[in-house]
Amino acid sequence: MESNTEKINNNSNGVSGTKAQSKTKKNSLLIVDDENANLKILTHILGQDYTIYTATNGKNAIKKALELLPDMILLDILMPEMDGYQTLSIIKNTEIINKIPVVFITGLDSEEDEEKGLSLDAADYITKPFSAPVVKLRVRNQIQIVNQMRTIEHLSMIDQLTHLPNRRSFDNRLVVEWRQAIREQTHISLLMMDLDKFKSFNDTYGHQQGDVILKVVSKVFDDSLRRPADFAARWGGEEFTVLLPNTPLEGAIEVAENIRSNVEKTIIKNTTGDNKGDIKITISIGVNSVMPTQQDSIDTFITNADEALYIAKKTGRNKVAAAPA
Ligand code: GH3
Ligand code: MG
Ligand code: MG
Repeated sequence: MESNTEKINNNSNGVSGTKAQSKTKKNSLLIVDDENANLKILTHILGQDYTIYTATNGKNAIKKALELLPDMILLDILMPEMDGYQTLSIIKNTEIINKIPVVFITGLDSEEDEEKGLSLDAADYITKPFSAPVVKLRVRNQIQIVNQMRTIEHLSMIDQLTHLPNRRSFDNRLVVEWRQAIREQTHISLLMMDLDKFKSFNDTYGHQQGDVILKVVSKVFDDSLRRPADFAARWGGEEFTVLLPNTPLEGAIEVAENIRSNVEKTIIKNTTGDNKGDIKITISIGVNSVMPTQQDSIDTFITNADEALYIAKKTGRNKVAAAPA
């Protein structure tokens, strides 16, 4: 079976962070301990398997966690000024880092201490003196969970047929880019795209060949986009979207025209074995562009792109139409 990880890494459209998990990249650990000797030993035990960052107090640990976003934190409890419990509480109340698993590694070996640590949402609790193989295995367990969660998150963002980002992924990205466009007062553009007469292709060649068409055109979208921030997604069925941050209307129309003509030029192999010949398909695209303010709504932004698409369909298909200003 083709592994899902492989599929995700091959998706060149890059749902945010898609490529971050390449096989060669090590997971990272932040080790926090006020005693240098402990940092040294733990680095020695874990350094081969993980990228190690260190901090010698709670305050610095939080700063480094925010900066480096480690996959896991190993945290001492007894430290001057801010102890491990306090440090953990702050981590758990700080967005961006509150999902990073924290494992206590401590000289406090009473049942009450362990219970307190776990009740504060520590992922695990290791007591000193520790056994090196056990530390390794407990860290491995946490890292496995982190990696599995990531795989699930990625899968939930990717359309399984075309491997493009899916609607949910698009919605998330749109909110982020929309806010950014408001903050920086830049144009954001949206292409709403719909394959022409697709139903008739399904009827003529069958649903499976229809799926092949969807895959091929998805690749055309990806290949037609130049900037890393440009974002193509499968909106649903045979409808697709492209989000173009920092792009005014003229630029967006150019991209849309490029996609339209590339789709038109693409010859799709007929694999049904029925002698009906190879397949050519066209696409209609509606373009909308705004420099949004707080008063503007994302829904209207989408609706207007949709209306432009409707105009492209009504005026003959295989066309790019812009939303009226
Ligand atoms: P128009 O030019 O007006 O867009 O015509 P159309 O035939 O493309 O429009 P319509 O919305 O009537 O048909 C869309 C078709 O897309 C119907 C549906 O069977 C097909 N479709 C949607 N999702 C998939 C899919 O995942 N695979 C395949 N093979 N077909 C799909
Ligand atoms: Mg449709
Ligand atoms: Mg259609």
